[in-house]
Amino acid sequence: MAEIVIKNLRKDFGSFTAVKESSFTIGDGEFFMLLGPSGCGKTTTLRMIAGLELPTSGEIFLDGEEISQRPPSQRDIAFVFQMFALYPHMNVRRNISYPLISQGMKRRDVRAKIAEVAKILGIEHMLEQSVGGLSGGDRQRVALGRAIVREPKAFMMDEPLGALDAEFREHMSEELRALHDRMGATTVYVTHDQLEAMQMGDKIVVMNNAVVEQFGTPQDIYDKPASLFVADFIGSPSMNFIDFNGTVEPGQSVVSIGSHRIEVPQQLQQASGALVLGVRPEHIKLSDNGELRARVVALEYLGTTQIIVLHSDYGELKARVDASLAVSVGDQVALGFRARTITLFDRSSGSALRSSLNDGMLAHG
Ligand code: ATP
Repeated sequence: MAEIVIKNLRKDFGSFTAVKESSFTIGDGEFFMLLGPSGCGKTTTLRMIAGLELPTSGEIFLDGEEISQRPPSQRDIAFVFQMFALYPHMNVRRNISYPLISQGMKRRDVRAKIAEVAKILGIEHMLEQSVGGLSGGDRQRVALGRAIVREPKAFMMDEPLGALDAEFREHMSEELRALHDRMGATTVYVTHDQLEAMQMGDKIVVMNNAVVEQFGTPQDIYDKPASLFVADFIGSPSMNFIDFNGTVEPGQSVVSIGSHRIEVPQQLQQASGALVLGVRPEHIKLSDNGELRARVVALEYLGTTQIIVLHSDYGELKARVDASLAVSVGDQVALGFRARTITLFDRSSGSALRSSLNDGMLAHG
């Protein structure tokens, strides 16, 4: 069991900074996602935790012990790579037992351990098969078997499902999560796929440009994005943004956008100048009368819901409504927002305007 604490972690490659002063805590037994676009520093962070890369500055603690400068072999952390480098000339049993045999474990103990791991992974029937003839999913299970057989304190996984097709990927991600729930081992998982992160993770760190933008539960990150970047990156379709110039004072509950007055959560921190109103597609309500009017320009039917693309005075907006709502391209509709579902941002800093009061009020629905 392992808690991993990251404090002000930084990695420079020459004059280039790949990870800038990152701080977050990975709880014991958590399935923890490092999420962000390509090149934002996820893999570098993971490699520093595993010891494959040494930090330029900052600290990493594993169960309270500082491990920042230790070699990988002294960290008790298993790294599962995207490309599963199995030994092609060995059968499944030998591939999984290899780490134990090289540690000098007794034959009888190795047999018992392999039986246990094979049962967890559901691969008992293929132990004597050659790995060469296995399907992608079975190879993945064998690779996982080889990682879990050592019983490390934590697992590091770098886009382990990246090479799989969409359907199989979904199946394997469910299997991985179920395996984690059975074993309860701390797992840090790198992905650029926000859906995967939301579905699989207990906690998510969202990175962008070497910086941790936000750290929290999937729900926190979806409902209370800390920045424009996070609000845009998480959710599909992503949040709608309306740019406006204005002032927000503490206690103010309405903002003026053009001639429209829109209710916003109360007790926001003070801000003025270029601001952005953010609202998720499912939080836009269509009504016959309302402040903001728009024209329906496209419809995307999704079974239980539909996405309505709207042209408004403030650009294109997307609303997600019930599929049964009768609406046609060309209709003029009025839009309603519920104050508590709105997030305001400062355009220049990109940060959400927040207060402790409003944090507690934001929620789905
Ligand atoms: P991806 O999913 O594309 O791998 P990532 O978020 O995992 O993205 P990293 O692999 O951590 O990103 O890389 C962050 C940045 O650091 C990239 O711009 C990358 O080119 C750079 N980088 C990584 N390793 C090195 C290295 N050894 N030397 C120089 N630059 C590096």
